[in-house]
Amino acid sequence: MGYQEILQYIYNETLQLSHIGEPASYIPELRKVNPNQYGICLKTLEGKTYCVGDSQEAFAIQSIAKVFALAMAFHIKGERLWERVGVEPSGSAFNSVIQLEMEKGIPRNPLINAGALVISDILLSELDYPEEQFLKFVQELCGDSDIRYNESMAVSERENGFLNAAIANMLKYYGNIENDIERVLRFYFRQCSLTMNCQQLASAFMAFANHKKKFEYFQTSLTGSQVKRINAIMQTCGFYDEAGDFSFKVGLPGKSGVGGGIAAICPRKYAIAVWSPRLNKKGNSVMGMKALELLTTKTEESIF
Ligand code: GLN
Repeated sequence: MGYQEILQYIYNETLQLSHIGEPASYIPELRKVNPNQYGICLKTLEGKTYCVGDSQEAFAIQSIAKVFALAMAFHIKGERLWERVGVEPSGSAFNSVIQLEMEKGIPRNPLINAGALVISDILLSELDYPEEQFLKFVQELCGDSDIRYNESMAVSERENGFLNAAIANMLKYYGNIENDIERVLRFYFRQCSLTMNCQQLASAFMAFANHKKKFEYFQTSLTGSQVKRINAIMQTCGFYDEAGDFSFKVGLPGKSGVGGGIAAICPRKYAIAVWSPRLNKKGNSVMGMKALELLTTKTEESIF
């Protein structure tokens, strides 16, 4: 079976789950999204693209943006990045506050909210035009200048982002935020509001599947070792307290977002993005998780 037949098979199989789970409702703008949309796009290193369903419909990538911010900050700071954020799985919800207090303001990893707020703070200190440069970076990663922030999504999240504000305040208390808290939150929420479709997301994630790909924006590539590390963090931390389950069932480095998207890569083979807004209790797309499980089972291609 080729990838197109496999995607079609997965699409048909997973449709049985289409009524399970609820879209995220804590961000009012996300409630407006039709929960019955479902798309998949896979891109291979040889340059082939395979799509099914609503693969051209754009959605807020939410926490998937954390991977792009991490790549940018890692490129700029190198190993010094790890002085301010760890690389251990949290085993907790993405927006947990408890662990951050116990560990005195050093987030467990860059893919939980606390870690992403620290990364946002670092980018604010390092970049002259953080929002513009972040957007340009992602646009260039996927070779598409049409990608935009969804401003009303970002505003809607700020107006209701009490828990993220609490996390940012705690980070500031422990001296792990340099900039104004409000500025950090606004930048973080704009990253989360970034709106992309499955095809664009799969293109952008090729940077992590293909160790040789140049990051156009930096006129250079991340080193192979940096790509390895970002993939390792996705593998161990990309699904919060469901990271073990995702590893167990899928076996690929990946990252989810509460918009219902999941992006994942098979090193040196392909990048894939799946989107379905209905989430399980841990905030990960029900059909997205199942689709990727079927993909690695059917192809027998995973990192394990
Ligand atoms: N913007 C969301 C939040 O901070 C991102 C969470 C997610 O996608 N898991 O709550």
